Amino acid sequence: MDQVFDVLIIGGGPAATSAAMTLKNRGKTIAVVANRQETGSLYKAERITNYPGLPPMSGEEITELFRRQLTETGAVIIEGRALSVMPMDDFFGVAVGSDYYMASSIILTAGITREKLYPGEAEYLGRGVSYCATCDGMLYRGKTVAVVGGGEEAKQDADFLEGIGCKVLRFEKNGRYEILGGMKANTLRFAGEDYAVDGIFILKETVSVTQLVPGLTYENGGIVVDRRMATAVPGVFAAGDCTGKPLQLAKAVGEGNVAALSACDYLDKKN
Ligand SMILES: Cc1cc2nc3c(=O)[nH]c(=O)nc-3n(C[C@H](O)[C@H](O)[C@H](O)COP(=O)(O)OP(=O)(O)OC[C@H]3O[C@@H](n4cnc5c(N)ncnc54)[C@H](O)[C@@H]3O)c2cc1C
Repeated sequence: MDQVFDVLIIGGGPAATSAAMTLKNRGKTIAVVANRQETGSLYKAERITNYPGLPPMSGEEITELFRRQLTETGAVIIEGRALSVMPMDDFFGVAVGSDYYMASSIILTAGITREKLYPGEAEYLGRGVSYCATCDGMLYRGKTVAVVGGGEEAKQDADFLEGIGCKVLRFEKNGRYEILGGMKANTLRFAGEDYAVDGIFILKETVSVTQLVPGLTYENGGIVVDRRMATAVPGVFAAGDCTGKPLQLAKAVGEGNVAALSACDYLDKKN
């Protein structure tokens, strides 16, 4: 897509919805990269009783309300998983699968991921480790690759890799994986066995925010932000659970609103 959006929001939960509603009121063009709504924290909550303005409701019911409101903002909703954010001279490039989007500013609302990085994952990312079969599969044509992860996406990606001539080893079980190698990853260790591979595709539902944007700073597991929800990277704002505790709905929504207003200020000054 050639359009440069004013703001691209990563994550489709409460913080994202709040930010998108405010950006819409300010007349900004918005794109939202949103995972399936079932992946959000709120969806898993049995009953929310401390959110003002709404009667007690299940997390699933409130999630559906939020998703509907997000859609009603008219934002371009890109269903999928943002893989990386690259700061360019005048805008940010965001990779989603094999597609690429551009925006003048970014709001991160990716929640928290409870999945830990595997040993070696960060070290070998881009050097034998990939999060996207469509983007990097061709590099491994005719070679042996491991696909780590269960679910439909992992199955589709494994089928795709097989279809282009890779020998695919599937690893669907949860557990402790370790990635080893030299200049490039060449071994996947699992359950006491070493598997020699040319590439490793890790297909978790979410990408840890520490992998998403270069240059962010972290404290107690959250992205460091100031009172304007600005991160250490100019033009990148963050809101909700990804900025740290307390992990609460009202905080996520409030921070989404502040991040949106700050992104508007940033864009006004830039222009
Ligand atoms: C069991 C449980 C009970 C809870 N009970 C309460 C309660 O009673 N009261 C209360 O106030 N709070 C409660 N919470 C907390 C509340 O749900 C969270 O604070 C709130 O959902 C945070 O909103 P968020 O938008 O920051 O993140 P989330 O709701 O987690 O949304 C983030 C979304 O971004 C998506 N995402 C992540 N990475 C990417 C990516 N790379 N690309 C695209 N999308 C991505 C995620 O999959 C997810 O859908 C509870 C949480 C849980 C788990």
